[in-house]
Formats: sequence, structure tokens, C-alpha cells
Amino acid sequence: MEYRSTRGLAPAVNSTEALLTGIAPDGGLYVPAGKLEPLAPGATFRATMEALLARFFDDIPENVRTDAVSQALARFRSAEITPLTSFGGTSFLELFHGPTYAFKDVALTLLPHLMHYAAKQAGIRNVCVLTATSGDTGSAAMQGFANIPGTRVLVFYPQTGTSEIQRRQMVCCPGENVAACAIEGNFDDAQAAVKAAFANTDLAAQARSAGCLLSSANSINIGRLFPQVCYYLDCARKLACPFDVVVPTGNFGNLLAAWYARQLGAPIERLTAASNQNRVVCDFVRTGLYDARRPFHVTNTPSMDILVSSNVERLLWALTEGNAIEVRTWEAQLKAEGSFRISPPAFHRLKTHFTAGWATPEETESAILDIWERHAYLADPHTAIGWKVLHELPATGRPTVIAATASPWKFPITMLRALTGKSLSDEFAAAEALSAYTGRPPALTDLKTAPCRFTDVTARETVPETIRRTFGF
Ligand SMILES: *Cc1c(COP(=O)(O)O)cnc(C)c1O
Repeated sequence: MEYRSTRGLAPAVNSTEALLTGIAPDGGLYVPAGKLEPLAPGATFRATMEALLARFFDDIPENVRTDAVSQALARFRSAEITPLTSFGGTSFLELFHGPTYAFKDVALTLLPHLMHYAAKQAGIRNVCVLTATSGDTGSAAMQGFANIPGTRVLVFYPQTGTSEIQRRQMVCCPGENVAACAIEGNFDDAQAAVKAAFANTDLAAQARSAGCLLSSANSINIGRLFPQVCYYLDCARKLACPFDVVVPTGNFGNLLAAWYARQLGAPIERLTAASNQNRVVCDFVRTGLYDARRPFHVTNTPSMDILVSSNVERLLWALTEGNAIEVRTWEAQLKAEGSFRISPPAFHRLKTHFTAGWATPEETESAILDIWERHAYLADPHTAIGWKVLHELPATGRPTVIAATASPWKFPITMLRALTGKSLSDEFAAAEALSAYTGRPPALTDLKTAPCRFTDVTARETVPETIRRTFGF
């Protein structure tokens, strides 16, 4: 499999190069070159994942791939990995049975093994992963990379902004090669500091001379994207009929994975983006205008609080049938003016396959309550947006699969308020009350007393120093 840049100005690479570099040198994202042939799902999740890796990471030897899959899947609490819970024609595809209780685990338990191999092949002693997180990515990266030889992770999280559970998932995460550090400020400050570190040529040179490749492992990496295709193919095997999907959307990685599953032959008809109040993607799907010039809302679905959804660039590539000039033009407009409008033919294709909707924080809580009252099912706030959006769409008569992207026990304060109207400020107390009210066993309660390993707080200016000290160069 060859990968090309969406911007058309970088040489094609194989999967190990794309894994290590993440982003193409022309600023574009790597996409598979040429048309994707159908891929029949295997008889199990594992078999499907192995077949998928054989296709997308074909320059990695089979024994390495098989071993990576075994190690990744061993981290899941469900034998089915991503089980479906169905109520009539609506199913929740539960993607939260991995180590950090959110869907990012599916890719992040696998990616470190693939990266480790890619680095070894390239003669790189250490892959040093630097990441800024608003919550779910940081802990998933730390859990995924913990104790993987030849890799290290340093996560910067905002001192204000993450939930207490999310913070503890990071600062209590075991693994000699992983670390987390708070940064003074909000997520934007953390993100800006990490971006500045990647642009710091002194730092990169020092890292290189210490045998260390600075890498981000963020959601544009092909090693994050393609493993996610697996659960849609697995779901297609179980349903064995045409179906629609609704995916809670932030950076657009998860919905794009469903789109790739469709290219690979999964009978997915309608793809729906479910946005929160930061509804850039929803508006884009409805109008063809991507407009990031708008206020940023802090919501009760923090993992979708995002205005620039980087994986949309891969969709643009598909909608223009690989027209890199158009993709470049629109991305340049986004950078310069904060918005772009796609061409009529591209918009026509978008409308043919995609729909979209969104929910306010209040509507999100109403949806949580509605799902509980109708089906006695606890859907996390992100998942509940999918439910709300689905019920506004015209019925198709086909089964619908809502991607359940996180466990409700990751967001107990919102869950409790939605179900009972009670607002508690302590997450562990809220989890206890939620469990008492619903009669369901809580999860993640061990975090309350877990020993805390990382207490560092850094200012933006001292981030490079923290990186040097942590990685030892
Ligand atoms: C990351 C995340 C999302 C958004 O997924 P994208 O692939 O960025 O669109 C939605 N829900 C939860 C719980 C997440 O952690």
C-alpha cells in the first residue's frame, strides 16, 4: 500500500514512513493511493483487524502484525472488543471497553507496536511522543505506549479544563516510559506549546543527536485512523444487512473511519456527523461552507470541543476524487481566512452520503435521560448526542448504529445531573450516586485512591526544558 499526500506535493511513502512522520512534508495528510478494493470482514474482530493490517500496513511483517493485534486486543475487557447493544433498529456500537474507557483505545493500543517496528526499521533508537490533550487522548496514549520498548510519551494537559477522572487517568498511569505534565492555562495553551515545540529546530536537533525521533501520534496518523475501520467492518459482519451510522464527531477521525469502511465494502448507507455546540462539521455537511470563525464553546462533551477538524482534509480529497490542487486551495483559505467553501460537485457528493445534526449541552442531557427512560441504558454525553441527532433525521427503515465513544462512568457529573437533576461537584461522589440511582456497578472508582505519579506544572515558556528533562537530552 502506498500513501500519498492530500496536497500532492510530497513523494508517496509506505506505511512505516507514514507512521513515523504522521503528517506529510507538504503539510498534507497521507491517504491510500488508488482505489480501495473490498475487504471481506473476518469471522472475528481479531481476524478482521489482521486482514485490515495486512492491507494497510503491508510493509510490516505478518508475525509483527499478528503479535501487535494480540497485545492490543488483550487490553480489552470485552471478548467481542466492540460489542453491539441493540434496541430494536438502533444499536450502540460500544467502543469503550479498552484501558481508558473511550474509543481512542482501539487504535492507541495497537499503534505503539506498529511504531516500535517502524522505528527499529528506520534505525531510530527512541520514538518520543509529545502530545497535548484536552482529556481522552492523553491517557489513551499513555496506556497504549506504557512499557513498549523504544518508545516514550510525554503528555501536556491543561491545568484547567480536564475532568478530575481524566486528570487522574494521566497522572496515575503506570509505565516507566510515560509521563504527564500540567501546563498553566487551558487546552489552547497546551496545544500551542506543543506546536511550538515541534517547530523548535534546536529541540529537534538535540533530540536527533540523542537518537530520538519526536513524534505526535495524533489522530491524523494513519496508525490512528485505519485501525478504527475495523469496528465498522466487524459491525457489518454482525448486522449482515445495509445500515446507517451516526458518529459523535470532533476531529472527524471516527466518522472518516466509517467512510473508509464503506469504501472497503461495508454496506453503510447514510453517514451522520453528530456535533456539539461547536458545530463546524455539522454546518459544513449541511452547507458546504467550512467556517471556523466562531466563538468556542466549552460544553459537557469536552472531547468534541474543537473548531478545526483536521481529518476533514482527507474527506476533501475523497470528495474531489483526489484533486490535490483544490484541497491545497481550500486548506490555504482556511489558514488565511478561517473558512472555505467546496465546489458544487464536491458538495453534491458530500450530500449524497452524509447528513449532520447537533445538540446543545441541555439537549445532550435530555437525550441521556430519554435513552435511560426508554431502554434503561446509560449512554455517555457524546453518545447521547448521536441519539438526539438520529431522532431528528428522516427514518430510512434501515438499522442504525450509533458509535458509543466513551463509557458513561467517565462523565458521572453530567450523567447524574441528566438523570436526577442533582449537580455534584465531586466526580467520585457523582459516580457513587449514579450507581445507587441506576443500580449499575460503577467503573473507574479505583482512580480515587490511585497513587499519583506526576505533579509537575510548567509554564508555556519552560515546556522545551521539561521535554529535554523528561526524554533525557
Ligand atoms: C475523541 C472523542 C470524540 C471525537 O472523535 P473524532 O474522531 O475526533 O471525531 C468523540 N467522543 C469521545 C468520547 C472522544 O474521546
